[in-house]
Amino acid sequence: MGSGPFLNCCVCVCARRSKEGLVCVEQILRDLGLDPSPEDCMAVQRVCQIVSTRAAHLCGASLAAVLRQIRDNKAVDRLRTTIGVDGSVYKNHPQFARRLHKMVRCLVPDCDVRFLRSEDGSGKGAAMVTAVAYRLAKQHAERQQVLDTLRLSREQLMEVKRRMEVQMKRGLALDTHDSASVRMLPTYVRATPDGTEHGDFLALDLGGTNFRVLMVRVRSGKRRSVEMHNKIYTISQDVMQGTGEELFDHIVHCIADFLEYMGMKGASLPLGFTFSFPCHQAGLNKGILLKWTKGFKASGCEGEDVAVLLSDAIHRMEEFDLDVVAVVNDTVGTMMSCAYEDPQCEVGLIVGTGTNACYMEEMRNVELVEGNEGLMCVNMEWGAFGDGGELDDICTEFDCAVDENSTNPGKQRFEKMISGMYLGEIVRNVLLDFTAKGLLFRGKLSERLKTRGIFETKFLSQIESDRLALRQVRSILQHLGLTSSTCDDSILVKEVCSVVSQRAAQLCGAALAAVVDKIRQNRNLNSLSISVGVDGTLYKLHPHFSSILQETLRDLAPQCNVTLLQSEDGSGKGAALITAVACRMRDA
Ligand code: ADP
Ligand code: MG
Repeated sequence: MGSGPFLNCCVCVCARRSKEGLVCVEQILRDLGLDPSPEDCMAVQRVCQIVSTRAAHLCGASLAAVLRQIRDNKAVDRLRTTIGVDGSVYKNHPQFARRLHKMVRCLVPDCDVRFLRSEDGSGKGAAMVTAVAYRLAKQHAERQQVLDTLRLSREQLMEVKRRMEVQMKRGLALDTHDSASVRMLPTYVRATPDGTEHGDFLALDLGGTNFRVLMVRVRSGKRRSVEMHNKIYTISQDVMQGTGEELFDHIVHCIADFLEYMGMKGASLPLGFTFSFPCHQAGLNKGILLKWTKGFKASGCEGEDVAVLLSDAIHRMEEFDLDVVAVVNDTVGTMMSCAYEDPQCEVGLIVGTGTNACYMEEMRNVELVEGNEGLMCVNMEWGAFGDGGELDDICTEFDCAVDENSTNPGKQRFEKMISGMYLGEIVRNVLLDFTAKGLLFRGKLSERLKTRGIFETKFLSQIESDRLALRQVRSILQHLGLTSSTCDDSILVKEVCSVVSQRAAQLCGAALAAVVDKIRQNRNLNSLSISVGVDGTLYKLHPHFSSILQETLRDLAPQCNVTLLQSEDGSGKGAALITAVACRMRDA
């Protein structure tokens, strides 16, 4: 007996389970030069059936595995799909197709499968493959071109560091201070804690997401510790954007409520006021608000001393008296709270709603304050870096859109590329652009995505988490009302998020590199070991922000060995410590 196509064809014919089938079998066997009995013919037919059934079932089982994989990739519960099939066995064998279909449907009942016979798969198909590949490559290139505008090269980051150094020097010098984009504000904090501070203090934390009142007990000596109690209060949009008097009356009401809650009604304690907005300080307890940021807009406050506004409100209420000892920026509080644990900590950094930094500068360089001895902490207000055009060449159309739609267009340009209040908005703007160009969500622009603020920065953290499966990314998108998203959409959204947050962390790293290198140069050192106290939810909760920041620092400030410390409640504990240091110095 020979072998080859002829025999395969025989298997097809022989498998027909009918009288005619048996006649065919006999004919085929005779053509092969054999002389079969009726029993022989039936036996041969049976063998053919077994072999072809096994083939169809094996084929079906493998297809089922493929379908399951596709279903998981797409992160859908039910897959609807069409399978294109070609080949003579499938097309000509009387039972093969039916058995194959049955096996597939039995093994993956949760897939709706349609089988489509292909006509000339290899000719037409090859052309289709080429056309699809071409379209995908073109779309990929189009997307990457957009994302590339959000990617920064090492040279660009070096340039950011260099420009930051220039602005820092300009902010410190008397004759250029007023026109510098980075204000380098003196804080009158001259020393970090030495452990001898003690007493009970009140602290206020205004300028973050939450307004808080705190009672802080600082112990020295063997029982050296800091104990804190705090209560969170809300500040409504109305109060944030109403009059200054309303805002400060509200704050004083919250203090009164807190004192009562603590069983300390009427107590008079030294108070540290963490006020995280740019202030011109003429002393530790004098803070003239230069400009509201982060959505605050209460009237009659800019140009006023916030310690006086607070004291006035306290007097209006006539219930208790408080001594406002220190007006504290949250960066300074963060640095101080970390310095209490690690004396090498001389820099404070915030990456939360906004971003800002402070560090211990040589008094001789702080030209706005008399005296050349020792150090003073400088509140950089680095969020405004770029307001003089320093970032124009790296700003994208998305940054411009976010800026234009903010409460302070043209201001805080650096902050708008880095902090929690804005990263989600940048991502949303990129997604809008991709959708409009037909590169995402099948070009369907959902109403939800057009809503400002809908894409919160916390979603970046969730989507970028390495532990998250694509299925979960998709469910976040669904939660956002982006129901028509596919698996490819999820991959792309994740890429957009990571490009945006990577840029934020790198920019932050480039600026921090300028700070630590300045401290190193101030001290004429070849290498500097220094710690940075960091606070802010974005920094703390984003899965990659801190490691990218650290990596950028290593790259851009190789002569500095920087340890990043997470601050525990910098704005509360730090404000109390600054107040405690000030009381210590005053009483000495
Ligand atoms: P603040 O800086 O106002 O004191 P936070 O440090 O708590 O307050 O930062 C609040 C900011 O953190 C918000 O703008 C929010 O977008 C962002 N944020 C909240 N949760 C997360 C998260 N899981 N990942 C990243 N950012 C977050
Ligand atoms: Mg804060």
